[in-house]
Amino acid sequence: MTAHGKHVPERRCVGCGRVRPQAELLRIAIEPAGGVAVDVRGGRGAYVCRAAACAERAIRRGSLARALRHPIGDAEGLRDRMVAAFGD
Ligand SMILES: [Zn+2]
Repeated sequence: MTAHGKHVPERRCVGCGRVRPQAELLRIAIEPAGGVAVDVRGGRGAYVCRAAACAERAIRRGSLARALRHPIGDAEGLRDRMVAAFGD
């Protein structure tokens, strides 16, 4: 809740642990087929700041895989897809 009483959904970045408004974060989710999708709704999701350092840390430390309860697979490829999605 803000000082004005308007509710802003907030989520925690699995890279740095900071809580931010959901709109400022990139959503990563597991697709029904089992792949890792970037910037989609639905499925089990996790959030990361739109910053390469947070994407890197979330993948390297395994916190993203833990949050998704799913292995990441191609870590390098996922990092690149996340960084590409920051530009939206
Ligand atoms: Zn972060």
